[in-house]
Amino acid sequence: MSGSPQKVVIIGSGPAGLTAALYTARANLAPIVIEGLEAGGQLMITTAVENFPGFQDGIMGPDLMANMRAQAERFGATMRRGNVTKVRLDVQPFEIVTEDGTLTARTVIVSTGASARLLGLPSERALMGHGVSTCATCDGFFFRGRPIAVVGGGDSALEEAVFLTRFASSVTLIHRRESLRASKIMQDKAFANPKIAFEWDSEVVDVRDPSAGALSSVLLRNLKTGAEKELPIEGLFVAIGHVPNTSLFTGQLDMDENGYLETQNGSRTNIPGVFACGDVQDHVYRQAITAAGSGCMAAIDAERYLEHLGH
Ligand code: NAP
Repeated sequence: MSGSPQKVVIIGSGPAGLTAALYTARANLAPIVIEGLEAGGQLMITTAVENFPGFQDGIMGPDLMANMRAQAERFGATMRRGNVTKVRLDVQPFEIVTEDGTLTARTVIVSTGASARLLGLPSERALMGHGVSTCATCDGFFFRGRPIAVVGGGDSALEEAVFLTRFASSVTLIHRRESLRASKIMQDKAFANPKIAFEWDSEVVDVRDPSAGALSSVLLRNLKTGAEKELPIEGLFVAIGHVPNTSLFTGQLDMDENGYLETQNGSRTNIPGVFACGDVQDHVYRQAITAAGSGCMAAIDAERYLEHLGH
């Protein structure tokens, strides 16, 4: 551990974290942002963002994040690569342990986001990156002219399925029920696409073949009849939602039953001086603009807290 405590340490560098960095930097609080393994967050694996206000013609996700990062740095925010491995929020100042050492801080802003949920099959994990993916935008290109499948029935699954028809020879949507959760407009789009087929009431019970080191098929089980069937595919995109990245804070910060951080009165957590923003505390809106907005709130809350402490 070295030096005097930082005023603000921000954990996570998506739209929430970088907006918090911009605001705290402009308040002269010299924030340090620990970027995390997935620096830039989920927008780094997105193509065009058309609903971020101010970009009339849209902007590419990675460009938007690069702009936010540069804007925060311009006012004195410091970016640090790497991941936080442990935090201690029961001591003052707080301790943030990274792969490169320990930082201490008067306030912590948690913006660690959420990550893709997986099916939990060993064979799925074994073939991750070898046919199994959680990011159509990143990996769709690899499946040109090949048959693939998408698992899930929400907006993400349908959006990915429609996007993947640009590359794949066919896209089979595998859903565990017989009706979709996705919005009507996405459903209409998917149903109208001749390249998309549906496997209803079905779950993936095996991903084959890890011993060959490549994906050749999935074994499906019909949840109503119990019948099993093999679906030959070369790519499997898992789009069944997200889990908040909160394992660092277990036992320290209050969470809801799904592990999302609880905030009240703006961005305040149960520990004074610790604030949370973005998808890590929002399972409802999950938009770049709402994440950025909540990052702004966390920065203002942290600034007022520090003022109150006399820092
Ligand atoms: P979601 O709405 O939670 O949908 C997850 C889907 O995966 C559901 O259909 C669920 O099935 C299925 N699922 C969950 N766990 C599963 C498992 N273990 N095995 C098989 N299937 C499983 O998640 P999302 O699609 O990622 O969307 C999240 C939020 O972002 C939503 O509010 C969505 O509207 C929003 N979103 C919006 C857009 C857009 O507007 N363009 C795009 C993407 C996402 P059940 O239906 O049976 O529960």
